[in-house]
Amino acid sequence: MPVREHSSGTLALRRLLRGFEHFHDCFFEGNSQLYERLVSEGQSPRILVIACSDSRSDPALLTEAQPGDLFVIRNVAALVPAYERPTGVPKGTSAAIEFGIRALEVDHIIVLGHSHCGGIRFLAERRARKDGFEFLPDWVAVAGDLVDTMENLASEADEAERLRWLEKSAVGLSVRNLQSFPWIADRIRAGRLALHGWHFDLQHGQLQAMDGTSGRFSAVPAGELPAPACGCCEGLMELVAQ
Ligand SMILES: [Zn+2]
Repeated sequence: MPVREHSSGTLALRRLLRGFEHFHDCFFEGNSQLYERLVSEGQSPRILVIACSDSRSDPALLTEAQPGDLFVIRNVAALVPAYERPTGVPKGTSAAIEFGIRALEVDHIIVLGHSHCGGIRFLAERRARKDGFEFLPDWVAVAGDLVDTMENLASEADEAERLRWLEKSAVGLSVRNLQSFPWIADRIRAGRLALHGWHFDLQHGQLQAMDGTSGRFSAVPAGELPAPACGCCEGLMELVAQ
């Protein structure tokens, strides 16, 4: 773990506070009616995004979303564990999904993975690492079965290609796990909810969407809506062409 000067952290904090001042004076004051409505009527976002905690893949920034547009859950690697009946153990991601679906009644869920994901790299290297992390190993193990498949990929696939495959396959797994929540499955069957799997390549600035039938990812054409990914993940185990 690199050692950083404390002063650089202080500078970063000052920059945030200057940013807030600018936000307040320009955006907040300039959108006072929007904020008044969001206070008086409450939030009613139509879209739930499950994204990675990574500092470089901010869903609101990527989509130019406005306040009130997105209900966002962020965790390491944008993973969704399969549904389990409540046992008294707090489950933050499941609780936030439940709030988005059963309280806010969103119409769409987007699982947003990204390239160069540290959480996915940790998962890929987990057998070789002895970092002493307490919580990360169990968390990334949500997608643990995918690593065995990745390691059996064609030998010509280089490390970057294998990691992109694992990142996208983890998105597909999370989309599949979302369907194990009974109140999500009910809404999909009723045509009231659609699931989407997206992957943001932060090296090339490209957004790809998962095809629900093949499991493959392809670029989202400008001005077009990608088909939802819910309902089928048969192609999940295929090597995703870059
Ligand atoms: Zn990540």
